[in-house]
Amino acid sequence: MSILSAIYLAVDGTKTEILLSDITATMYENKLKRNLYCPTENCPARIIFSGGKKAHFRTWRLDKHSSDCEFQFDRIPENIGVNTTGTINVEIPHSRRQKALQEAFRIMNLSEEDLKPHLGNSPIKPRNKKRTITIAKKNVTGAQLVLFEGEEYDHQLVKPRTYICKRFVDEIKEMDIGKIRLVMGYVVGIRSVGVVSEIQVGHNNQLITAVFEEAFISDRFNSSYVNKFWSIERLRKETGSIRFTGIGEIRKNAATKRMELAIYRGSDFKVDNIDMSNLASQFTIRDLKTK
Ligand SMILES: [Zn+2]
Repeated sequence: MSILSAIYLAVDGTKTEILLSDITATMYENKLKRNLYCPTENCPARIIFSGGKKAHFRTWRLDKHSSDCEFQFDRIPENIGVNTTGTINVEIPHSRRQKALQEAFRIMNLSEEDLKPHLGNSPIKPRNKKRTITIAKKNVTGAQLVLFEGEEYDHQLVKPRTYICKRFVDEIKEMDIGKIRLVMGYVVGIRSVGVVSEIQVGHNNQLITAVFEEAFISDRFNSSYVNKFWSIERLRKETGSIRFTGIGEIRKNAATKRMELAIYRGSDFKVDNIDMSNLASQFTIRDLKTK
């Protein structure tokens, strides 16, 4: 849910509601900075204005909205991993995540189209490979397709916020570690780990393992996803090749040295563009009909 107005608290204690569209960078710098609050009544969260092509308000990184505030968002506790930053700030609205996943699936299809004439026995020529990457990049920078990470903390700077980028598995670099990314690839393996599974995702001979850990399992919003990973296995048996798109934190496992994508919400990943809990239901319904 995007914040469209903020309360300006003047030094004399007067409060004025200001619309996003009425703010300029200069005005923010000179007057409003550090004095903007969430528009919800009695909500203590402080608000940052960020100018640039797509001006927006967002919440101070460590501020919490009141429990009944519509702009409240989850801060998911970091679990076991090597990263000890404490919390991961997941400030991206659900609708935007879903849109990004849709878009990623479209990019994957596009890149397949692009490579199609060169599939088969002949190796893919570098020229065409390059073209695929260009398509992906273009979409990453497209204004309405980008995700915001909300990571900026330095209020001295009024600059466009850090983006969450889409990456094919083989485009993931060291610098992506610790960041939220939308990862695209194919399911190349799946291994059951209790009520969840680890999903190996590959692209151009590079691998990343999507992991679903304690924070995922214990989140009640994920209850319709635990114990449903069999559906991916089954889809794989039926279709052979499954496209994977998922939003999570990129990590490098210190023990195994493997790259991991830690996913925290069941709705944050798709297999062949299908939500896993829906996929499991589809199979269950189909089984009932054939009985
Ligand atoms: Zn609020």
